[in-house]
Amino acid sequence: MGFSFSRPFRWFLNLIFPPVCPICQAPFGGQGEDLIICPDCQKAIRPVRPPYCPCCGLPYPTGDGEGHLCGPCLKEKWYFEVHRTCALYEGALKEAIHRFKYGGVFPLVRVFGDLLQPPLQTLIEDYPVDVMVPVPLHIRRLRERGFNQALLLVRELSKRTGIPYEERALAKIKDTPVQIALKKRERRKNLKGAFQVKDQEAIKGKAVVLVDDVYTTGATVNECSRTLLEGGAGKVAILTVARAI
Ligand SMILES: [Zn+2]
Ligand SMILES: [Zn+2]
Repeated sequence: MGFSFSRPFRWFLNLIFPPVCPICQAPFGGQGEDLIICPDCQKAIRPVRPPYCPCCGLPYPTGDGEGHLCGPCLKEKWYFEVHRTCALYEGALKEAIHRFKYGGVFPLVRVFGDLLQPPLQTLIEDYPVDVMVPVPLHIRRLRERGFNQALLLVRELSKRTGIPYEERALAKIKDTPVQIALKKRERRKNLKGAFQVKDQEAIKGKAVVLVDDVYTTGATVNECSRTLLEGGAGKVAILTVARAI
């Protein structure tokens, strides 16, 4: 981290190993040293824009003006105040998240950092953030993967904004099966008691931003929020890189 080759050496390296886009594998070069993904993939990631649900951030495909509460938000009991996200979980962004999470392509964290900054700024306007907390992984999953992708995102954001984070405030104490295969009711039952606040002092009375890579149904972040509030947090907001529809 922070290490970079000198310009002539980088030029020489690029000559032997032309840089390829970590998402689509297309070679690209001479586009500036800070570009990590190719311009096509960059263009393919379309940020979520208003109108969207003011609560969970669900974007509406058409229309303009004010967003209104979506169906799930009218029905569900959410423990978080709002959820904000960068873009839809599809195409190039979905591929990027997969390569980051399962392939360990860590430089992509800078791409996610660029994407996360605007929604975080929007969030901060009505929600003064005290501390960021990553959605934790169960120790078994953590050992398998070797890292928690949400923690890497939080560290990147903290580096950029100066907002502190507490990586050990919340822990996952129950190893839940992969949620995708489960029905909504089973999902909720499975998550019950899956998380635990490990450091009450770190979150006591604070406005917490809980960070994760993907928002799917909201079940996981909702259970985390419930646990954080029970553990003494003042309020909780959610920030994710992508939202599945
Ligand atoms: Zn690409
Ligand atoms: Zn909603």
